[in-house]
Amino acid sequence: MKYKCTRGGDASVTGSTAIVTGLSNNGGLYVPEYFPSLTPDKIEELSKEPYSRRASYIMSLFLTEFNLNELTDYTDAAYNAKRENGFRNDKIAPLYKMNNTTYFLELWHGPTCAFKDMALQVMPRLLTASIKKTGEKREVCILVATSGDTGKAALDGFCDIENTKIMVFYPQNGVSKIQKLQMTSQKGANVNVTAVEGNFDDAQTGVKVIFSDKALTDELDKEGFFLSSANSINWGRLVPQIVYYISAYCDLLAGKKIKSGEKVNFCVPTGNFGNILAGYYAERMGLPVNKLICASNRNDVLTQFINTGVYDKNRPFYTTVSPSMDILVSSNLERLLYELSDKDGSAVTAYMKSLSEKGYYEITGTVRKELKRIFSSGYCSEEDTMRTIKNTFENDGYLIDTHTAVAYKVLNDYRAVSNDGTVSIVISTASPFKFCNAVLEALGHSEINGATASGCDILEDETDLIEKLSRATGCDIPAPLATLKNELPRFTDVTRPEKMKESVLKFIREG
Ligand SMILES: *Cc1c(COP(=O)(O)O)cnc(C)c1O
Repeated sequence: MKYKCTRGGDASVTGSTAIVTGLSNNGGLYVPEYFPSLTPDKIEELSKEPYSRRASYIMSLFLTEFNLNELTDYTDAAYNAKRENGFRNDKIAPLYKMNNTTYFLELWHGPTCAFKDMALQVMPRLLTASIKKTGEKREVCILVATSGDTGKAALDGFCDIENTKIMVFYPQNGVSKIQKLQMTSQKGANVNVTAVEGNFDDAQTGVKVIFSDKALTDELDKEGFFLSSANSINWGRLVPQIVYYISAYCDLLAGKKIKSGEKVNFCVPTGNFGNILAGYYAERMGLPVNKLICASNRNDVLTQFINTGVYDKNRPFYTTVSPSMDILVSSNLERLLYELSDKDGSAVTAYMKSLSEKGYYEITGTVRKELKRIFSSGYCSEEDTMRTIKNTFENDGYLIDTHTAVAYKVLNDYRAVSNDGTVSIVISTASPFKFCNAVLEALGHSEINGATASGCDILEDETDLIEKLSRATGCDIPAPLATLKNELPRFTDVTRPEKMKESVLKFIREG
């Protein structure tokens, strides 16, 4: 299997090169040359296997220069409920049954309690192996600018992985107390966490400047290091995400909830379009999918796109209670455009040019028709997000986080207008305890010292809110969040954006 670039060109690269380089040098993204096929018999067979074996098999179809045993070593290590601080559920990605046609795929039983773990627990292992396969002799230093969840998931995934170092920059006043403590208390000999004076944009711009700093790259080269990123456009993050769509289907099959070949819907709370794109890839491989429902919060640029064919980022940006979906440019959508336009790199280049010059583009004709074939979409307001959390807990006894609530509301709206009775799976992307202030407020506990839904400037200590949510609902606190209040910050450095480069060098030289 080779990888092409979404913006055209004849050259194709191996999966390991795609993982090591991240982005193609014309700015495009790497995409598989074709979709390996998954027959109904194979799906039946996989349904008898545990998650890690489903994962290694599916990844082996895309990463053909890895052998199955090698991949199984990585997936057994990553998707392991026996490892300390690993996954907390034997099924890794269990399905919660709400009723005969509604399931929730819980992707938050990993070490950081959010779905980024599904990819970031295995991706570092793929990356180090890919580095060896490409003949690269230097070690990799991963740089991450984070507004919260990705930083912790990347730290946890890369912690003590050989031949890697990871450095995370977060905006000093731009993450919640819980997120900050999760990161600054990170264990491991190869990690560093540094606060940046400024907001997320300052941190992100600082990282971009470092990547393009030739003098710094030369310095690092002398120390035996090269820089890379672990962001969600990397193929190594996308390929593990295809697995849980197939795994969810296998579990329904194994539990005799559906018949072989029966189609299901997935409803996905969407931000950068990585999660739902993996669902599309699974469908193209042959997974029986009726609709992929793309759920947006108030930043509903994707819903508009799916409904009208026009992608327009010239619109206000809102901060919401589902912050991981607050995004105006969804990078992974470029990969979908490539498939919709029948792998036409020049068409994708034209869309992306229009996006960067005018802030919008429009798809028409067969491209739009293929989008409509499989995607549906909807958006959920802030009030509806809160109401959905409350109703779902009070009526169904199931506690969900803000992102999952967006998806569940959108699924209910879709059902109301479509009369589609297909078995549907809501992708549940975070533990409710990760967003406990908004969840508590939704449940009517807003008296807690004026806690704001968005969460950064609350008066009460957030770790107390975790316990309050547990008392209010009778739900258990996930272990990594329960012990958080006993953790001490290891990393206290604060830097100015223009000094981030010095921090990187210091970390590489002094550890
Ligand atoms: C990252 C994230 C999302 C959005 O996923 P994309 O792949 O960016 O579309 C949704 N919910 C949570 C909790 C997340 O962390």
